Amino acid sequence: MIIIFIGPPGSGKGTQSLLVSKKLDIPFLSTGEVLRLKAESGTDEGNSLKEMMKSGQLIPSELINDFILEYLNKNSAGCILDGYPRNLEQAKFLRKNINQDVKVFYFDISHEVLVKRITGRFSCKNCGKIYNRFFSRLKNDVECDVCQSTEFVTRDDDNETSITKRLNIYKRETVPVVDYYRRQGVLTVVDATKFVDRITEELLVTLKSH
Ligand code: AMP
Repeated sequence: MIIIFIGPPGSGKGTQSLLVSKKLDIPFLSTGEVLRLKAESGTDEGNSLKEMMKSGQLIPSELINDFILEYLNKNSAGCILDGYPRNLEQAKFLRKNINQDVKVFYFDISHEVLVKRITGRFSCKNCGKIYNRFFSRLKNDVECDVCQSTEFVTRDDDNETSITKRLNIYKRETVPVVDYYRRQGVLTVVDATKFVDRITEELLVTLKSH
């Protein structure tokens, strides 16, 4: 089965992908992560990806679809997709080309909480631990709680202009995907404002009942 996490940027799908993947011992793929790595390659393709992502736009589906197919064929025993499908074109591509059941979780969250989650987000440059200056600060305000590094980074696309654009694109492109899966009866709504552990628990309970 393919497990799909859909939700606006900042809704916590990335965090849950990692946690559920560990608990169920299945792989997960974040298209955003794959694209961020490609964007850092220094090639012309990388530079144009970087520009598109920085401004909050979606990357053309044809640059992602084949890669996803290859990944799903390699991991046919089951996996989690975080960030794909992002529009109806991708959802229909998946349905046409992959003959596996899908279970879709929609991370539901208000606009106000999202903006704080995204604008407050930063991570440790050394170990990648994610923090938020509104919700989960450093314990001693200086060093990473995990590795004690004092260097931190923010994502290029976590700026106010890009966030507004990403949220608008999400409404226009991705909300129809939520409705598409709702109509197929494969959608579960998750209250994404709950504590991280609580959400993981709920996801696991729903998945185990299938
Ligand atoms: P994310 O890490 O999921 O928030 O994705 C970051 C950025 O990567 C998005 O704003 C898009 O520019 C790009 N991206 C990620 N997944 C997709 C996708 N399935 N289709 C198109 N663009 C994507």
